[in-house]
Amino acid sequence: MIYPQKYDVVVVGGGHAGTEAALAAARVGAKTMLLTQSVETLGQMSCNPAIGGIGKSHLVREIDALGGAMGVATDQAGIQFRVLNARKGPAVQAIRAQADRVLYRNAIRTIVESQPGLQILQDTVVDLNIENDTVIGVVTSIGVVVRASTVVLTTGTFLGGRIFIGRENKSGGRAGDPASNRLADKLRALPFRVDRLKTGTPPRIDGSTVDFDNLESQPGDLPCPVMSFLGDVDMHPKQVPCHITYTNERTHEIIRAGIKDSPMFTGDIEGVGPRYCPSIEDKVVRFADRDHHQIFIEPEGLQTTELYPNGLSTSLPFDVQIEAVHSIAGFEDAHVTRPGYAIEYDFFDPRDLKLSLETRNVEGLFFAGQINGTTGYEEAAAQGLIAGLNAARKASDQAAWWPERHEAYIGVLLDDLTTLGTREPYRMFTSRAEYRLRLRQDNADMRLTEKGRELDLVDDVRWNAFTDRREAVSHAIEQLRAVKWTAGDALATALSQATGEQINRDDTLINFVKRPGVTPEAIMRAKVLPEIKPSALEQAIVEVKYAGYIKRQDEDIARTSSQEKLVIPNGLDYDSIDGLSNELKQKLTDTRPDSIANAARIPGMTPAALSLVAVHTKRENGLRKLA
Ligand code: FAD
Repeated sequence: MIYPQKYDVVVVGGGHAGTEAALAAARVGAKTMLLTQSVETLGQMSCNPAIGGIGKSHLVREIDALGGAMGVATDQAGIQFRVLNARKGPAVQAIRAQADRVLYRNAIRTIVESQPGLQILQDTVVDLNIENDTVIGVVTSIGVVVRASTVVLTTGTFLGGRIFIGRENKSGGRAGDPASNRLADKLRALPFRVDRLKTGTPPRIDGSTVDFDNLESQPGDLPCPVMSFLGDVDMHPKQVPCHITYTNERTHEIIRAGIKDSPMFTGDIEGVGPRYCPSIEDKVVRFADRDHHQIFIEPEGLQTTELYPNGLSTSLPFDVQIEAVHSIAGFEDAHVTRPGYAIEYDFFDPRDLKLSLETRNVEGLFFAGQINGTTGYEEAAAQGLIAGLNAARKASDQAAWWPERHEAYIGVLLDDLTTLGTREPYRMFTSRAEYRLRLRQDNADMRLTEKGRELDLVDDVRWNAFTDRREAVSHAIEQLRAVKWTAGDALATALSQATGEQINRDDTLINFVKRPGVTPEAIMRAKVLPEIKPSALEQAIVEVKYAGYIKRQDEDIARTSSQEKLVIPNGLDYDSIDGLSNELKQKLTDTRPDSIANAARIPGMTPAALSLVAVHTKRENGLRKLA
């Protein structure tokens, strides 16, 4: 059957990349279909029910600033919120929310179902229709042909997915869901570079069988943070604590004895796993001198007793898992509700993508999420938003858009993936960004919402909230500038008492708040700005404290950006550039960077080699103009 409507954008997969892709495409006006294996699993968290964390909440805030769903859904589903790195500077602070798995799925489903211009269809895509190297639609398992101007694939861990528990293994996309093998075969026949990666998840535990009496409890932070710029603590459901326990020598003995049957060590799994989320057997082997490892015991939700023991990811045989669990304090009599497992799956080398996330080899076909070698819901959602936006723009003959590295972590993610590729599951860290001071989670809206509005990604509600906040912050900065004192007067005394800082000379409040020890709370206590909103003051103080550093960073960016923006023509013949090493010629030919900025990030690239490429780019561009 040929489906009656033709779509501008068909998004395949309803996970974190797929839902943001479909929402973004529909928000900018594309006629969009979200085609996914099961409507019940829209927004499903395959592993840990938690959103955010270091580097990741930066992505969530950026998605949110561009009108995405993840931040709001987190505020509606978060059952414990914490600020990580609270004692460090705002650039590396992050929010982490433990989410109720069911509430999160429901929140995403509601947002998707209420998006105008977006239709959902439940089925499995088994084939892509491609003509003249251009995608023209998809074919589903029941033989339905859906025609589309562009297609976004967001199939996560499902392509050729294989689940491993000890020596047992079976086909699967994740526990309970079938793998996408027919689509994987089709994609393997296309000219994309493909490889295998793996990831894993811990066994789940029935909380009613856990002895919490002697376990450390970890409540959420107060005041409770919010994830979205539209968020409010009143949106949060009931808040609950997590707990902490530890593995011990006995646990490690059990694991060491069972390791001979672990697929990681038998060689059954060849794909590389996430370096920063190793399995417990990996930790026991790699850090043999450690006599314990920390386990965070995290609730799966408010309406279930099931728990997620974070840090206990494993693919050991089930009997070994049970024995290891029972050796841990608090888990002596714990009932394991689901075994932990590892999954190995196909991913496609993201160097075969443009920065817009369109594939280089098939026009109109976009990839986003774990299919590109990333790990994590936030990384997937960020790519989904960009791929959905650009698929819609392509369908209406508009130029692609993506943020640059100095504008957003999303820009860093896209650039890292498409320029460097990845050999292991890629996750975001603040250390990946050169311009960390500028790319803070607190100012993601100031960096991106105006652009989002221009692109039609941002609706009136968000736009009005943003302009109100922007005005309040700029008003707060004006107020800071206006407050002046002479040493010893009543104002100086009030400020000195509230902040504990010595004030020996005439000054202005805008200078005073730059002192490291001066906090927004202390300024509020001094009652020198009676009309000010605490949130606006807080943001204003961060901006003022960072202004000097950011100015220097901006000068750096301006200095390099004129050269960096140089677009390298697609067919530039690197072999003909004298003076380039053979290794760099090879890397440039393989990577085909879009711009000098991208070429600069190729490992081993030297300033001298880069200027050779720039000279040849200018010459080639000049010749093309004359031709
Ligand atoms: P997914 O969320 O997997 O969504 C894929 C969607 O595509 C699903 O809705 C699926 O039904 C649909 N689909 C697949 N094939 C088809 C088809 N042919 N037709 C129609 N629909 C299709 N991340 C971490 O950060 N840390 C971890 O420790 C971690 N551990 C994990 C452990 C396991 C066992 C698994 C499975 C994942 C783990 N992840 C982890 C990864 C995390 O789940 C993913 O990064 C994230 O879900 C990726 O989002 P996505 O949208 O790319 O794919």
